[in-house]
Amino acid sequence: MSDNDCIFCKIVNREIPTEFIFEDDDFVVFRDIKPHAPVHILIVPRRHIRSINDITQDDKDIMSKFFFLAKKIAEQEGIARSGYKLLFNVEKGGDQFVFHLHLHLLGGWK
Ligand code: AMP
Ligand code: ZN
Repeated sequence: MSDNDCIFCKIVNREIPTEFIFEDDDFVVFRDIKPHAPVHILIVPRRHIRSINDITQDDKDIMSKFFFLAKKIAEQEGIARSGYKLLFNVEKGGDQFVFHLHLHLLGGWK
């Protein structure tokens, strides 16, 4: 399912050109356009899910994969040892601005 007005669906569907640092059948991974850390990466499932509030039992595999992918990308970016933060913003009060589920990977501080 894809949402016509969703910016991340447009990125997934390549309607907005974005360099993917990783992609597979379930996810795309790219750098945040307004980074809040030296390394700020977004891990985005191809499937349009609005937020953590909307995940169901059917999303178990995707939810598990999020974390294995975060670990792999952190290693790839060379920040695994120094450390990083993983963040899901949930709905407006939780500072979610793009309503397509995504995990922020933040790190690279000195
Ligand atoms: P959130 O506040 O959790 O919804 O985070 C959405 C993030 O998406 C923000 O950190 C934005 O800077 C980022 N963002 C929005 N549009 C783009 C884009 N076209 N390419 C990369 N990152 C984007
Ligand atoms: Zn979407």
